[in-house]
Amino acid sequence: MTRQIDHVPADTRMPDYDQLFLFIDGEWIDRGTRDGLDVFNPATGDVIGTLPVATEADIQNALNAAEKGFHVWRQISPFERGKILRQAATLIRERSSAIAIRMSLEEGKPVAEARGEVNVAADMFDWFAEEGRRSYGRVIPSRSEGTRYLVLREPVGPTAAFSPWNFPATSPARKIAASLGAGCSCIVKPAEETPATCLAIARALADAGLPKGVLNVLYGSPEAISSQLISSPVIRKISFTGSTVVGKKLAHLAADGVKRMTLELGGHAPVVIFEDADIEKTAQLAVAAKFRNAGQVCISPTRFYVHENVHDQFVDAFIASARLLRIGSGVDPETQMGPLANPRRLAAMTRLVEDAVAVGGELRLGGHRIGNQGNFWEPTLLVDVPEHTAMMNEEPFGPIAMTSRFKTFDEAVTAANRLPFGLAAYAFTQSDKTAMAISNALESGMVGLNTFAISVPETPFGGVKESGFGSEGGIEGLDAYLATKFVSQA
Ligand code: NAD
Repeated sequence: MTRQIDHVPADTRMPDYDQLFLFIDGEWIDRGTRDGLDVFNPATGDVIGTLPVATEADIQNALNAAEKGFHVWRQISPFERGKILRQAATLIRERSSAIAIRMSLEEGKPVAEARGEVNVAADMFDWFAEEGRRSYGRVIPSRSEGTRYLVLREPVGPTAAFSPWNFPATSPARKIAASLGAGCSCIVKPAEETPATCLAIARALADAGLPKGVLNVLYGSPEAISSQLISSPVIRKISFTGSTVVGKKLAHLAADGVKRMTLELGGHAPVVIFEDADIEKTAQLAVAAKFRNAGQVCISPTRFYVHENVHDQFVDAFIASARLLRIGSGVDPETQMGPLANPRRLAAMTRLVEDAVAVGGELRLGGHRIGNQGNFWEPTLLVDVPEHTAMMNEEPFGPIAMTSRFKTFDEAVTAANRLPFGLAAYAFTQSDKTAMAISNALESGMVGLNTFAISVPETPFGGVKESGFGSEGGIEGLDAYLATKFVSQA
């Protein structure tokens, strides 16, 4: 049975969107005679801005600026660098309401959710400002008298960062803050679909006193920009968040230059719900986590493996809670779930649901587009979905949850681990013994036990298997931007 959900119409009194620029060597570069790329509001389909498309010369200018910026920035002490990053964090927080509205207009998420994200982005600058001061080396006892063995940790060099559209603030912030905290310069290419948010972050850094060329922001053809940046000898480290397909392409390019990489490539998170879990509470937490950012989250809980004795109770509670969600334009303060970020996601939702229903998955909630304006899709739940369906194998990246029943612990673990992804996994149980056993058994970079909250700046964020390698937060996040140098002094 499906249910029609009321569609809250998009707010007709749209707030202003920013003029869009490239940011190279401290200059804000407008479109001029360059090609343009339109930016759309996903709640209405309207064009809200036009991006300048970076030319080959712009990309080269950014490389030159990053090279020059690196030499300036690495000479500044971590203590002084930290002051600039912390000042940028303060400015981002002060401007969070305005930035959140821009983000909501370009990405679709509710403004309150966007504001929370902007504040976490500010926290990332604080974290890496401090961690940069702790890039400790060490002294190793030497073998001969009068000699010293020193291990130094140095910034790896100019970095190239590629971030996606689903987290327009935290995704670029993680990469920029870690680069700058370590003493590297950075060229970032955020997603063309959501450009204003990262430009606002760059503006805060510039206003905080970041020297010219230390951060550069490019938009245009992702392929042209990534191939020119990664093949340049200037770039010493690459960080990419996005799809596995693109991540593999960039890994090939990086391999040619033997360049370090951090890859965060999404997942298909399993949630194992044991018989002894608090089912009502788990269902409520699951709805909040699943439909955050309309499910366009790489750690979104997706495959719910529920013990057969509590499966139906969980499904009923999940549906009851999901029916309460208010769907609408992100800039409407009442909205709890906004539209999908682009029409590609709508097409993907339609294909995944039709495929699953055709082979026996039972559609219990949603499953359809809402209205014909904007990219709205109903919160959706399918139960008893066969393993061979597309949605059980392909990251849905949208507001779709699916369930499957299990009887034994081993059966649940095998099902949870069967995909080539390993980013996030979750388990719910009131038994400490089961919690420890399942956290050991899950093949995943991050595990939430009785919680879906697994991402803050001070904890490592990253995956295993085809979800990528390297971690972006925590002390590991800084380490990824540091090279080790051994000095033997006689
Ligand atoms: P896509 O594969 O076209 O693009 C993914 C991201 O990579 C975008 O930000 C895009 O700008 C960038 N990109 C594409 N080609 C590139 C290139 N040659 N060089 C550098 N960057 C490039 O996919 P999409 O339609 O935007 O999203 C589809 C899928 O991507 C989703 O279903 C999801 O699985 C995955 N995705 C994952 C994340 C994540 O947080 N890990 C974020 C966004 C998308």
